[in-house]
Amino acid sequence: MIDFINEAQALFETTRALRRDFHRHPELGFNEFRTAGIVTRELNDLGLEVSTGIGKTGVVALLEGARPGPVVLARFDMDALPILEETAAEYASQNPGVMHACGHDGHTAIGLTVARILGAHREELGGTVKFVFQPAEEGLGGAEAMLADGVLENPRPDYSLALHLWNDQPLGWLGVTPGPAMAASDRFQVTLTGRGGHGASPHLSVDPIVAGAQVISSIQSIVSRNVPPLKSAVITVGSVMGGDAFNVIPQSVEMSGTIRSFEPDIRSLVIKRLTDCVTHVAQAYNCQAEIEIWQVTPAVVNDPFTANKVKQVAAELFPACEIDEKEQTMGSEDMAYMMSEIPGCYFFVGSANSEKSLDAPHHHPRFDIDEQALPVAVALMSASIVAILNGG
Ligand SMILES: [Zn+2]
Ligand SMILES: [Zn+2]
Repeated sequence: MIDFINEAQALFETTRALRRDFHRHPELGFNEFRTAGIVTRELNDLGLEVSTGIGKTGVVALLEGARPGPVVLARFDMDALPILEETAAEYASQNPGVMHACGHDGHTAIGLTVARILGAHREELGGTVKFVFQPAEEGLGGAEAMLADGVLENPRPDYSLALHLWNDQPLGWLGVTPGPAMAASDRFQVTLTGRGGHGASPHLSVDPIVAGAQVISSIQSIVSRNVPPLKSAVITVGSVMGGDAFNVIPQSVEMSGTIRSFEPDIRSLVIKRLTDCVTHVAQAYNCQAEIEIWQVTPAVVNDPFTANKVKQVAAELFPACEIDEKEQTMGSEDMAYMMSEIPGCYFFVGSANSEKSLDAPHHHPRFDIDEQALPVAVALMSASIVAILNGG
């Protein structure tokens, strides 16, 4: 029996040093050349079979156990965000305007330590671990790029695992939710075209600003009146652009926004109602409407069997921790692409500590984690992989 907690603690300094190094040198999506280089070197040093350039800057490594068994994919994201860091940490970003403000520096370090621990216990493993270090998770299509390069083939995984350090919750909290955990994300763009004119003669124009205001109001009724009250959805209009002068009715107004949902039927209901509201309200105000909707990411839906395994492992390893089976977020994750093909579990590891002022939200310029969450995540990921390999 591997003592995952002690091994993760013994490697804490190593994990933290890696995390701090990645934090000092953040790289944007598909530009993780330095990060991927370190990942490749570390995995090669461990004697794993490493493939690089999978999805541009992605790295994949195989660890073969001593006995046959299932293939478990473990995915860790590597990219940073275009944010100017405002922490005073001694390991703050040395790349101005780019920051690890989501915790992917931690994820990459966690993945390398998991590989180190499991690599030392090959003899006790039945099956194969496929380590996936993914680029460009932050909305740039890193998972899809890796899929296009065959990340799910040779060998095809039977199960998939991923995690997120989670600053919405304190250190000591673990989130393992069977079923939907993160939302599907869709993007929409609406253009309303009227007829521009003098602000003093609205009767001679067709005002797309008034039509736009009505469109924005009317789509608020989709979540409140069409989505069943016990289901979830979000529609946010995030940008509205129209007009240049106070006394001119513009020719057109453009708006864009995001739709979030968990279930496919709610997702299509919202898309249909959004299209109806935009088209018919625009028509009522004599405007032409163009609407485009891009389905960006499916929902992250945890497979009940895999989630249950992770939950059991968590309860055994961390009897004092709170294990939350209800954590859901309307945030989205492109791991959903891998998990819609390979059953899996995406779990959360609480990483905030308000006493140390380490509780800024993800994507905030002062985001930082309590690094004690690193060994917790390492132990839980390593133990979950082994539980699935040896019992799955
Ligand atoms: Zn993020
Ligand atoms: Zn993230």
